[in-house]
Amino acid sequence: MRRIEPDVAVIGAGSAGLVAFRTALEEGRRAVLVENGPYGTTCARVGCMPSKLLVTAANVAHACRNAGAFGIDVRSTGIHGAQVMARVRGERDRFVAGVLDEIGNLPAGSLIQGHARFVAPGRLMVDDDLELTPGATVIATGAEPAVPEEFRAFGSRLIVSDDVFYWDRLPERVAIFGAGPVSLEIAQALARLGVDIRVFGTAGHLGGIADPAVREYAAATLSREFYLDTDARILDRGVEGKEAVIRYRRLAGDELTEKFDYVLAGTGRRPRVRGLGLENSGLALDRHGVPVSDPATMQCGNSSVFIAGDADGVRPWLNEAAREGRIAGRNAAHYPKVRRSARAAPLAIVFSEPQIIMAGASRAALDDEQIVTGSVCFESQGRARVMNENRGLLHVYADRGSGVLLGAEGIGPRLEHLAHLLAWSVQQKLTVATMLEMPFYHPMVEEGLRTALRSAMGALAQSGTETEAARTPGC
Ligand SMILES: Cc1cc2nc3c(=O)[nH]c(=O)nc-3n(C[C@H](O)[C@H](O)[C@H](O)COP(=O)(O)OP(=O)(O)OC[C@H]3O[C@@H](n4cnc5c(N)ncnc54)[C@H](O)[C@@H]3O)c2cc1C
Repeated sequence: MRRIEPDVAVIGAGSAGLVAFRTALEEGRRAVLVENGPYGTTCARVGCMPSKLLVTAANVAHACRNAGAFGIDVRSTGIHGAQVMARVRGERDRFVAGVLDEIGNLPAGSLIQGHARFVAPGRLMVDDDLELTPGATVIATGAEPAVPEEFRAFGSRLIVSDDVFYWDRLPERVAIFGAGPVSLEIAQALARLGVDIRVFGTAGHLGGIADPAVREYAAATLSREFYLDTDARILDRGVEGKEAVIRYRRLAGDELTEKFDYVLAGTGRRPRVRGLGLENSGLALDRHGVPVSDPATMQCGNSSVFIAGDADGVRPWLNEAAREGRIAGRNAAHYPKVRRSARAAPLAIVFSEPQIIMAGASRAALDDEQIVTGSVCFESQGRARVMNENRGLLHVYADRGSGVLLGAEGIGPRLEHLAHLLAWSVQQKLTVATMLEMPFYHPMVEEGLRTALRSAMGALAQSGTETEAARTPGC
């Protein structure tokens, strides 16, 4: 058996792990990076990048189909599924190759292929032939699709989102369970590419939106394009030949049995901590079996173990994986000296059309008594109408006492940039009044934000009497 005593061991060569590893090296430490799967990261291989490639192809098809609204006749809207998927895979492979290049340039001997697990506090085994006793450890093992047991009834027809990005042609009919961000992006993209889609959600969840009015508006808007039931009643599941069969109660109230080429389990992702031997690590675990950590240090208790990225089950977005990787890598390098770091304002975007955004505090975390809500409806908004993308509702939440912007949730046209302005404003603790002093060019979608801020100002002025967004100019 081989034994190594590095200063820092990083488990997982994804986005968080790579940043943690590089940071430890930059801090002058001897570090190793253990990976048990293919290199290339979830983001590049089966996450952010291929999903956006699929979404972009679908949006081109959609734009062509709707060109008539502008008096433009696009005669062929033929969708060549094999070519669509060839571009998705081809461009995806380029992104993966970029990561592989980066990995190829890491110091020789620092990369270890194998499955890492704790065998005792401060002691790891990689497969059965390498023992690591690092000075500090970073867990950066990512997340994996959570597939409920009952979905096994779909047999070989059951897939997860990863599988979509390896297709070489488009199927005809797909059922998607779960209406979270990943499911929604894939559902709308496939629907726009001509695939017959059913989305079966649970408990009203939709795209991570907490604001009930925004969620309701989003459900109504997205279900114009594909069947979407956010609280589906499934009566039976099974397989017949090469097809999955689902019997369900439709939104209309009647029962229907339908067959699908695939059933996608989009019922969320959970931290990939099984098989990590955490029961031997001495770490305190939460009820999901995930080590309890401090978001300012990424340290697990007072131990020499740090955690970063999707593995901690919080903020499962790429930018946070990188940020947490940096914090964890730096603190692992200097353990037991641990430095606290400020965290960025939360920012999440679902790349549907219209786009769904969440910036700053979630509506679920805000007390009705504490906030006023400003609102804008994009149905009559100038630039949105110009683009023929005039669907959307944005809510901004400001502290009733100070007028400081706390958060925002919305669905609307190309809100990805506006979402950044909102998150940056939350982070800067700007008041609604200060934000209204900023320039707003014309004609811009951002003018919609100004409308929402003005409506929040109105509510602030009348604070105590105006509490509901419904009383401000919503849709
Ligand atoms: C379809 C999809 C679309 C997405 N779109 C976006 C988006 O648009 N924007 C955004 O911000 N985020 C998006 N995300 C989320 C984003 O991809 C993740 O937040 C990010 O990739 C997490 O990086 P990570 O380093 O934590 O995990 P990963 O990149 O998954 O890295 C974890 C690594 O650990 C390895 N590993 C696990 N266990 C062990 C072990 N015991 N021993 C050794 N190695 C191990 C795994 O093999 C893996 O390589 C998307 C995700 C999906 C699935």
